[in-house]
Amino acid sequence: MLEIRNLSKIYPNGIHALDNFSLDVGVGESVAIIGGSGCGKSTLLRLLSGLETPSRGESRLDGRVLREPDAQLNMVFQEPRLLPWLTVADNIGFGLRHLPSAERRARIDNVLEAIGLANYGPRWVKELSGGQAQRVALARGLVTRPAVLLLDEPFSALDAMTRTELQDHLLGLWNSQQTTMLLVTHDIEEAAVMADRIIVMQPFPGRIFEEVRVDLPYPRDRTSGEVSDLKRHLSNLLTRSLSEGRKLNRA
Ligand code: ADP
Ligand code: MG
Repeated sequence: MLEIRNLSKIYPNGIHALDNFSLDVGVGESVAIIGGSGCGKSTLLRLLSGLETPSRGESRLDGRVLREPDAQLNMVFQEPRLLPWLTVADNIGFGLRHLPSAERRARIDNVLEAIGLANYGPRWVKELSGGQAQRVALARGLVTRPAVLLLDEPFSALDAMTRTELQDHLLGLWNSQQTTMLLVTHDIEEAAVMADRIIVMQPFPGRIFEEVRVDLPYPRDRTSGEVSDLKRHLSNLLTRSLSEGRKLNRA
């Protein structure tokens, strides 16, 4: 469904941010991407979302080449990026302006309910806690029912408790909506509990180091032996990916 083929990005300053990245993601699949900072994770999502153009390679969604921002791919960032002069409902409904107002209202109410913020529609952004604001950002990403949700470290600015709460919440939404997710994170546990597959990346230039399939059912128990084993495995891979990246770079 989402086909990423040999994507490379060299920025005008000469930094080789992404090298020959290929990945196929199926409908409704959840793929996490982990890796040290600077290994091209955000670059990858920006290329997919049409915010940057690739130096080489291309991506396709259902056969269609992705060249510019596409209504079928929505991005959620680390910060909520809400518009402070709009209410919560209007922030969420921003991408629905083409719909008749009754349907727009119904969709907004629906997604507010789903993220646990029913009745928050008329509130102002500044009245929200950090966790609530990020919930609204998730709602805005989901309300247009995109085929693919791209998430760039969406919970890393939140405290640990809010983070796990939102991870569980997003998992529930993902389960009920069949959205395909590409989740960039540097939180190993987040990857371990949220993904069908985990891509470990390597820096200088950013590329795939290893892919890990996770065959554990959802929701996953964070305290279980399986999840602990997986976290240890991922942590080892990350350490190796960084040291091998450095070695290659010196060679
Ligand atoms: P990550 O999200 O994994 O931390 P990024 O994709 O943000 O990595 O960055 C990968 C590399 O590309 C880094 O070395 C970064 O400094 C560089 N980079 C990112 N964005 C730009 C840009 N707009 N112009 C030039 N270099 C960039
Ligand atoms: Mg990043």
